[in-house]
Amino acid sequence: MEFPEEFRVVIRRYARVEQDIRALVQERCSHICGLCPVICCRYDICEEVGDSPFLSLLQALYTPDEYMDDRYGWLGGAGCLLTCGRPPVCYAFFCDELLACFEDARERYILETLGRLIGYIGDRALGRRHLVEITDREQLHKLNLKRIMKRTEEAHEVYRIIRDYFAGNSITDEGWQALAHIKATIDMHP
Ligand code: SF4
Ligand code: SF4
Repeated sequence: MEFPEEFRVVIRRYARVEQDIRALVQERCSHICGLCPVICCRYDICEEVGDSPFLSLLQALYTPDEYMDDRYGWLGGAGCLLTCGRPPVCYAFFCDELLACFEDARERYILETLGRLIGYIGDRALGRRHLVEITDREQLHKLNLKRIMKRTEEAHEVYRIIRDYFAGNSITDEGWQALAHIKATIDMHP
């Protein structure tokens, strides 16, 4: 099934933003998650990649040589094998033990907002449905691409605000409003 150029542009932008978010989450959390004896990855979450044609497409485009293991899903020895196409919950979940390592409530809020960005992009991508709730590949042709693209750019802008904050810059009033908008949207349509 051929996708129009507009769809391919959306895929490329989504992938770029996901890669940026993944790298920043990893930078902030790997010193904690890397020592974790629990590991919150679960096979049923990994399965969501195969259930979602959009995520499957990303997986096939960006990690074509990796295969989901019958027992460990996408979890490899050095962490998740997917560079793109992880389910939004993989970014949004931070366990209490991890959050407790960030003593500053503002840092916790910023980290949680960063984790919500991928979910924000796909919110209401087709009617009221989230991007990853679409399980019929044919329906990818009906996606609201303009909305997804707009949200992708908004998410990338908030990512940049957060990246710059962690690099030592302050957040402007407009920046805080942009972060609050992400949280309010996801809380409204979790
Ligand atoms: S989020 Fe928590 S449970 Fe999951 S890998 Fe990190 S420390 Fe472990
Ligand atoms: S981060 Fe990767 S391995 Fe972990 S649950 Fe998500 S898809 Fe599976």
